[in-house]
Parts: sequence; C-alpha cells; structure tokens
Amino acid sequence: MDLGIKGKRALVCAASKGLGRGCAMALAEAGVDLVINARGAEALEATASELRGFGVQVTAVAGDITTEAGRAAVLAAAGSVDILVTNAGGPPPGVWLDWSREDFIKALDANMLTPIALMKALLPAMIAQGWGRVVNITSQSVKAPIPQLGLSNAARAGLTGYVGGTARQVAPFGVTINNLLPGIHATDRAVSLDQGVMAARGITMEAAMAERQASIPARRYGTAAEFGATCAFLCSQHAGFIVGQNILLDGGAVNATL
Ligand code: NAP
Repeated sequence: MDLGIKGKRALVCAASKGLGRGCAMALAEAGVDLVINARGAEALEATASELRGFGVQVTAVAGDITTEAGRAAVLAAAGSVDILVTNAGGPPPGVWLDWSREDFIKALDANMLTPIALMKALLPAMIAQGWGRVVNITSQSVKAPIPQLGLSNAARAGLTGYVGGTARQVAPFGVTINNLLPGIHATDRAVSLDQGVMAARGITMEAAMAERQASIPARRYGTAAEFGATCAFLCSQHAGFIVGQNILLDGGAVNATL
C-alpha cells in the first residue's frame, strides 16, 4: 500500500533503538525525511545511516528530549514538520509507597509534559498548512495498570487526557493526534523489565521471558518492525479519519472487549 507521505518531514524522538527506531524505519521506508533524536550519539548515528539507506534525508540530534535544552536543540533542527512521533524512556519500576514527589515530577516531565511541549511547538505549523500527524508512544498501562509501573501509569494517563481533548481541537484543520499503546515488545526496555522479574523472583531470564510470553494470547513479544508499521499507517494519508484514539498493540494481553 502506498502510504501517500513520500517527501513529508517527520520528527521521531527517542529513535536510536526500540520502538522509536521501528517508527523511524517504517517512515523512512515510506519516503519520509527524518529528524531523529536520542541521548547517545553513537547508536543514533548508526540508526541515521541505516535510515539513509532508504534514500531519505536524515538529521540526527543527540540530546535528552525530556530537558528544555534538549527539546530546544531538537526543535531548532527540525523547524516545522508534517509528522511528530513523541517518545522517551519509561520510568523505572518500583513500589507505590516509595515514590517521592521528585520521582513523580521526573516521570511527568518525561512522559507527559515533554510530548505536550513538543505538540505545542509543532502543531501550529501543521494547522497552518492544513495537514499534520502526531503519534504518541504511550503504554498498555493506560488501559490496564501495571502495578510496579505506577509512575508510568500516572504520567501516561495524564498525557492521554490531554490528547483526548486536543485531538478534537486540531482535527478541523486536517491534523490528527493518536496514541499507540505498546504491550510487551522485544526491545532493550523489555530486557530490563525481564531482568527485574528475574532478580525479584530469583528465576532465570528464560523463565522470566517464558512467563511473560505465556501471559500474552499471541504467545510472543511484539516486534519494533510491526509497531513501526502501525505508526507509519497512522501517519499516512489513509488515516485522516482516525482521531484521538488509543490503539493497543499488545498481542491480546489486555483482556477487555473494548
Ligand atoms: P528502548 O528499547 O529502551 O529504547 C529507548 C530509546 O529511547 C533509545 O533510542 C534511547 O536512546 C531513547 N531515549 C531514552 N530516553 C531518552 C531521552 N530522555 N531523550 C532522548 N532519547 C531517549 O525502549 P522501548 O522499548 O523502545 O520503549 C519506548 C517507550 O515505550 C518507553 O517509554 C517505554 O516505557 C514504552 N513501552 C515499551 C514497552 C516494551 O515492551 N518495549 C511496553 C510498554 C511501553 P538513549 O538511551 O541513547 O537516549
């Protein structure tokens, strides 16, 4: 299927590895020029050169997207874009009683206020040109809380509320905002969560993975490539009527009819 976005420009945040990288790859395959970001310059450059293999222009900006300085550098390099994919690392797991105000502020900054700041900066130009796409990478924890990820549950729920209202305000101008909710995907993040299970329960990594896979009806982890393909579709010409939705990619893990 031709996604109809060849020649558009996208900013994909936190895109040197994992799900962000999957989104950047799928957009590059569709002919979209990219600005990509991550903190570590080496992995970011490696991803940028792979993306250039699709024949698109790629600008890599190293920096922490959750800081004001990091965002300023990324936004300066990006200028105005047609497509924004927001993403950042997720908060650490823990226990509800231990989380301090500081921990919450950090999580809110990373997973709620950063995507909101990026949307505020980039939506006006999309509105002015009458076309734009925003995809926020959130989590299945928005639909079904993951007890040890309370910081993530809280911050992402806040972002989801903001998107619910804002998506309806920008839709009249040809701009869509949607959220993609990953369940367990085979990325570094999944490995570190498996290591947490391994340490907490005194079991092997294989046992921790097998246990988590067994909890997913599809009996496997998702891949960054299939996640990226869904993101690219949401950014495509065909997805203009999908507005303010929260789309689960979880192999059926959230047991709900709707
Ligand atoms: P990942 O494999 O660990 O990759 C994270 C990417 O983001 C890397 O490129 C990393 O590069 C970059 N990054 C992290 N923090 C950043 C920051 N502050 N500024 C700029 N770049 C940053 O993680 P992932 O699995 O793709 O997860 C992406 C998001 O989805 C996370 O928020 C995660 O919590 C959420 N999620 C993932 C899963 C899953 O199973 N994978 C499930 C639910 C939700 P640097 O480290 O070099 O910055």
